[in-house]
Amino acid sequence: MWNITGVGLSNTSDRLLQPIWDHLLMHHYNLMSSPFFPVFLVFSSYFLFCIPFTLLDVLGINSPLYGYKIQKGRRATLAMMVRTLWMAVYNQLVFVFPTVLIMSMVISTPPLPVSAPTLWEVFSGGLAALLIFDTQYFFWHWVHHRNAHLYRWVHAIHHDYVAPFSWSSQHLSGVELMTVGFLSNLDPILLKCHPLTVWILIVVSVWMSVEDHIGYDLPYSFGNLVPFGLLGGAMIHDTHHQKPSSNFAPFFTHWDIVFGTAATEKLKSEMRSREAD
Ligand SMILES: [Zn+2]
Ligand SMILES: [Zn+2]
Repeated sequence: MWNITGVGLSNTSDRLLQPIWDHLLMHHYNLMSSPFFPVFLVFSSYFLFCIPFTLLDVLGINSPLYGYKIQKGRRATLAMMVRTLWMAVYNQLVFVFPTVLIMSMVISTPPLPVSAPTLWEVFSGGLAALLIFDTQYFFWHWVHHRNAHLYRWVHAIHHDYVAPFSWSSQHLSGVELMTVGFLSNLDPILLKCHPLTVWILIVVSVWMSVEDHIGYDLPYSFGNLVPFGLLGGAMIHDTHHQKPSSNFAPFFTHWDIVFGTAATEKLKSEMRSREAD
């Protein structure tokens, strides 16, 4: 168990995040030191991020952002949303919770550090973990589309919907979810990331995953704000659901460019010409 009397020692630190970290340790250490806290972060972030896009999908053509909808001919229904949310809850209950419970009995949770990370440590550690995960998932994803058995038994369920919507970001088989969970837990450990970096990384990566599936090419989304097309985003991942032999990377674009599987601009122009007809 973390020793709360150590908090006062950190007050002399010049780290910008130290006051926030001290506050979290002082008031929420029981919650944060729980092995289930990352699971809670993943699921609550997923739930909260999906809410506004549910509203957009329910409003449909009456939504003020309908002009940005990528596949205008396809609309997510409430039944589809309930089905995907149920699958996410089912996966948590059947796969994630038992695994975390067993792991917490086998491996003791290390004490939370007294010092906060620097902003640079959060940025560099978070970015490195995202880049490594992006690489691992790119190849995992590519293999699961190339091998018919792996596709059918592991990844096909994620392609139930040709037009993705926010809740479908967690529409995964148990095997895929556990693989993603294993890698996204392992990478920050190997990089020796601070727990605060890990939690920020969790929220950011859940957002990026939801944004991949929102079905709207919003001008202020991560994917469009980051310059030089470095990030994927909704349009690029939507393309993967329409043309599953392209755009395998979850977050960035470089691996699809390197391996010749990037296919967005072509699809964009096809869609524009379809709309013009
Ligand atoms: Zn997807
Ligand atoms: Zn796929």
